[in-house]
Amino acid sequence: MGASTAYHLTKNGVRDVILLEREPMLAMGSTGRNAGGVRHQFSSEANVKLSIESIQLLERFSSEVGYEIDFHQDGYLFLLSNESTLADFRRNIEMQRRHGIVVDLLTPEEARQLAHGLDSQGVIGATFCARDGIADPNGVTMGFAKAAQSAGVEICRETEVTGIDIKSGRVTAVETSRGTISTNIVVNAAGPHASSIGRMVDLDVPISPYRRHIFITEPIAPGPNAPASRIMVIDFETTFYFHREGAGILFGMSDPDEASSYSLTVSWEFLEKLTRTAIGRLPILADAGIAHAWAGLYEMTKDAMPIIGEASDIPGFFIIAGFSGHGFQHSPAAGRILAEMIVRGEARDFEVDRFSLERFRQGSQEHEANVV
Ligand SMILES: Cc1cc2nc3c(=O)[nH]c(=O)nc-3n(C[C@H](O)[C@H](O)[C@H](O)COP(=O)(O)OP(=O)(O)OC[C@H]3O[C@@H](n4cnc5c(N)ncnc54)[C@H](O)[C@@H]3O)c2cc1C
Repeated sequence: MGASTAYHLTKNGVRDVILLEREPMLAMGSTGRNAGGVRHQFSSEANVKLSIESIQLLERFSSEVGYEIDFHQDGYLFLLSNESTLADFRRNIEMQRRHGIVVDLLTPEEARQLAHGLDSQGVIGATFCARDGIADPNGVTMGFAKAAQSAGVEICRETEVTGIDIKSGRVTAVETSRGTISTNIVVNAAGPHASSIGRMVDLDVPISPYRRHIFITEPIAPGPNAPASRIMVIDFETTFYFHREGAGILFGMSDPDEASSYSLTVSWEFLEKLTRTAIGRLPILADAGIAHAWAGLYEMTKDAMPIIGEASDIPGFFIIAGFSGHGFQHSPAAGRILAEMIVRGEARDFEVDRFSLERFRQGSQEHEANVV
């Protein structure tokens, strides 16, 4: 989010920008630990609009931003096993189609044909969008960062934000581990750590971290029992998902028993729980060895929608965070929208109220249901 915002600020003519990162490299937070999934299939119209714009930029990323991002549009397949979810997805499809997205409702047999090795027992329907896919999160971050840098943005790694100065109610400086930067505008793009940056200005930024795992198997040859394409398959009821990743299969699942924490330690007990569900949908995983495993943090808001915009109580304090497990793919549009809000006071062609920090004070609204 930080790299995309910096890039889009330069597109709006602002070059006096410093991107601060406390780690030795960019994309070592949630962005470097995610599954790379990119989809149109959200339940909220606002998220669908973020997807449409973001996917258009990802499709022309190498020519426009100047970096290869290994984008494969082999589609997203959602497997649905109960009538009420199927009804929800039918409604979602109608909304998505109104926005010009081509999404199909499939039978279990049609789903099986798309993903070799899939056991569709209990599945009563599926949805498929062929323009969804998988891209390289590190590539997207580096592309935005390098293009921003060439346009004049300074990138300071190993530089931790430690405080934010406020005078007469507005931002005046950012304190870092390497000194103070005078500024009247700061962007909080700290992902799962956004709430701690909020606390520096006594602002409640309601974003909670949740550990999520990813496992990649040792090589599994494509064939009748394992997909060759990079199609992303999601068993919606359990949230188990998988896609081909090089010679192996990448898979993960959320754990409803997991409490909020900043833990990044891999839980091998969770792998046992996950495997019991996983082999019900992709039986070949029963015999697979694990080549890589890691954990990263989802950055959840109460309604699973992001916060994009200025905090109304603190002029100059902007937030772009809380993407609730689907932020990598929305970084192109979100960065464009925030950059315009900073430079012009509003974003072109986008209704941003849905993303305001203030919505949490106004009680519950529609939430994003397609969180995996
Ligand atoms: C297992 C897993 C799978 C996922 N799968 C997908 C997927 O398929 N598709 C998708 O779109 N999304 C996915 N996500 C979600 C996605 O990774 C996040 O929504 C997205 O990366 C958030 O980006 P961000 O820039 O807000 O946060 P981050 O990438 O975490 O960036 C925040 C940065 O701020 C830095 N920082 C924090 N505090 C400070 C400080 N005090 N000073 C300086 N720097 C600081 C951090 O080091 C970090 O680099 C997944 C996430 C996980 C964990």
